[in-house]
Formats: sequence, C-alpha cells, structure tokens
Amino acid sequence: MSNSSFNLTGITSVAMHSAERENSEHAHITPIYATSTFTFDTIEEGAARFIGADKSKIYSRWGNPTFVAAEKTIAAIESFGLKDENNEPLKLKALLHSSGQAAMTTLFLSNLKAGDTVLSHYSLYGGTYEVMHKVLADAGINVIIADIRKADVLEEAIKKNPFIKLIHIETPANPTINCIDIEAVTKIAKQYNILVSADNTFATPYLQQPFKYGVDFVFHSTTKFLNGHGTAIGGVLIGRDNEYMNTKVWKWHVLLGGNTSPFDAFLLSNGLKTLELRMDRHCSNAMKVAEYLQNHEAVALVNYVGLPTHPDNEVAKKQMKQFGSLISFELKNGYNAATKFMNALQMCTQATSLGTVDTLISHPASTSHVSVAKEEREKFGITDGLIRLSVGIENIEDILNDFEQALRSL
Ligand SMILES: *Cc1c(COP(=O)(O)O)cnc(C)c1O
Repeated sequence: MSNSSFNLTGITSVAMHSAERENSEHAHITPIYATSTFTFDTIEEGAARFIGADKSKIYSRWGNPTFVAAEKTIAAIESFGLKDENNEPLKLKALLHSSGQAAMTTLFLSNLKAGDTVLSHYSLYGGTYEVMHKVLADAGINVIIADIRKADVLEEAIKKNPFIKLIHIETPANPTINCIDIEAVTKIAKQYNILVSADNTFATPYLQQPFKYGVDFVFHSTTKFLNGHGTAIGGVLIGRDNEYMNTKVWKWHVLLGGNTSPFDAFLLSNGLKTLELRMDRHCSNAMKVAEYLQNHEAVALVNYVGLPTHPDNEVAKKQMKQFGSLISFELKNGYNAATKFMNALQMCTQATSLGTVDTLISHPASTSHVSVAKEEREKFGITDGLIRLSVGIENIEDILNDFEQALRSL
C-alpha cells in the first residue's frame, strides 16, 4: 500500500517507487505501450480528451504511459530532497525526448526567438556547440561564448548585451571536465532576469542537482548514465515552472516532433533503478584511474575534477556529491602516442559515447569535435593528443591492467 505521507529517504527508493504503475492490468513493471494512438469510445470522450478535461492519452507524439513512468521517475530524482520558494517539496515537470539533441532543441526554441541572445561557455558538448552556431544562428538567435567561470566576465557580458535571455551551462563540461559554479551563475542571472539552463548529463541527478541553486531548466542526454547500458538514444528536458512546461514547452516539443519511443522509455526506466549503485562504482573506479594516470610518466596532463590539482576541484566539491566517471588526459607525444595507446587497449572499448556500464574511450579531435575548427577547439583545451575516458563499472584491476599494458606499448 502506498501512502503519500511516507517519506523515502534515499534516491534509489525514489527511483524505484516514484512512478505509479501506469497500467490497468496491475503489471508490476510498466509495460511497453507500443501504440501510436489511443482510442475513444464516443465522440464526447474524444472531445473531453482534446480539451484536457480527461487526461488520458491521445496520441503517442503527445505522450504515452511508458514515457510517463520514466518522466515521473526523473522528475522525482532530480528534485529529491529539494524545496521550492514556499518551502514545499519541489515539483518538476520532465518531458522525454528522442535524444539529448531533441531535448536541447525544444529548450532553446521554446525560450528563444530571433533577436534574443544565448550566453554560454567554452568546452561544450560538440552537438550543443553546433546547435548554437548553426541552428540558432540561422534562426536569428545570437550566441555569445565567454569564460563565464569568472564572475566579472559573466557580469560584463550581461551588461554589454541587453538581449541575453538565457544562460546555458554544462557542468562538468565535455571533454575538458571543467566545472561552472551553478550557484554563482544563477545568482547573477537572477539579478538581470535571465533564465538559466544546465546540461546535467555528466553528473546525473544523483551527483548534482542544479535546481537546488535555482536554475530554470535541466536537460540530460539519457543515452548516457540515466539509461546506463548503452541500449537507446534519448533525452529529457526538465523544468521548474510546471505551468510553462505544460503549455509552451510541451507545445513546442509536440510540434517539433522529438518524442521518444515506448521501448526506449522502458529501457530508460529500467536503467534508472540502478543509477545510484552504478554511479558509486563509476566514481570510485574513476578516482583510481585518475590517480594512476597522474602518476604515470607517459602522461602529461589529467583532467579529473576529483583531483586536487584540477582547477575546478573546489567548485566540484561544493556542488557534486562525488566527481563522476569522466576523465580526459593527454599523453606526452600527442597524436602519435594517443593512436598507439588507444589501438593497444584490449578490454576498454573505442566508441564515441559515455556513461555506459563498460569503459569507453574516445579521441575528441578526430571524432566528436572534428567539425570544430582546430584553433577554436584548442581554445577549449581540446588538443590533438587529448583522450576522453568514461570509466565503467568493471573490476578496477582489469581497467588498470589494460591501461598498464597499453601504456607499455608506447
Ligand atoms: C551525448 C550528449 C548530448 C547529446 O545527447 P544525444 O542523446 O546524443 O542527442 C548532449 N550533452 C552532453 C553533455 C552529452 O554527453
């Protein structure tokens, strides 16, 4: 029996028990509603659904019970333990999308119009950078990139550009693992009535909750840690203003057509249940790998926010529970060493994603950031020899052994 006054004290319990069982057959696990549309028994019933008097589903681009289960779970874990302005439990609205890119497109296009400006920072996910500089730019929306980790740079940019409507941050950021102080940015943004959105993909809501600091929107590529098993592309957009999410943002989402699929939503719901367990192991493995790399003579530089030597270690300590699984590092001898090392790995897998249970490794300059000009990406710290690593949950000895033998081949 569920009782609304029974407070769950941990995020794994919340991840398992936040979605009502979305089915009339009492199936324990919300089924895969593989249906494009939903039926009406009468014309009156159809009419009631279209005016919203009856909240049952209409058409799967507009929502589907399998999506709802994952949306409720994500909203619950993203707001876990947080309060709103009235000291009530924070209520968030989540909308699943077909990809992280679709979630960010809904976010940007439902909040920005021609003449508006979006302010962001260096070292963004490649797809985010391209949406800003191609899609938004073509739509007449201006993009300013500045080092907004520095409060004075942020304020100066805002003062010089009265049309800034949204500040978009990604923290930790891809692939340099730089962090942005969410509280500091949000505080300044609020003084100027500017919206703030955060890409929380690398951290996950278990490690970091941007809504705690008053951001307006969060999005994730659920393809990564939230699904966790590399079985589906997906995204989610989450908003604090439920009314706005249910009207304009929902409308834009539906019109742009970025809905997910019932099967992908099912896989996502399944992954969410073990988020905390997976992240604990990802984080402890990543710390050991970062320490190993830092002490290795072939390694020139290690970017991991958990290391006291990382410039954003203090910011990460303030806003993250642990430091995540993403590491990037540079081998001495650049591109050549990177090629030799990556090709010598026996267990760790070369692929361009992250956040899966197994360890994935990639070379941004030749893959994810290949469309960003060399001078431009080097400003972000993405040099020819940079390697990005998403440390998995394998037994740590095997990850370290694989690295050891591959580094010996240099
Ligand atoms: C993967 C990723 C995206 C894009 O998500 P897709 O699911 O690939 O569309 C956006 N931001 C970050 C940080 C990512 O890692």
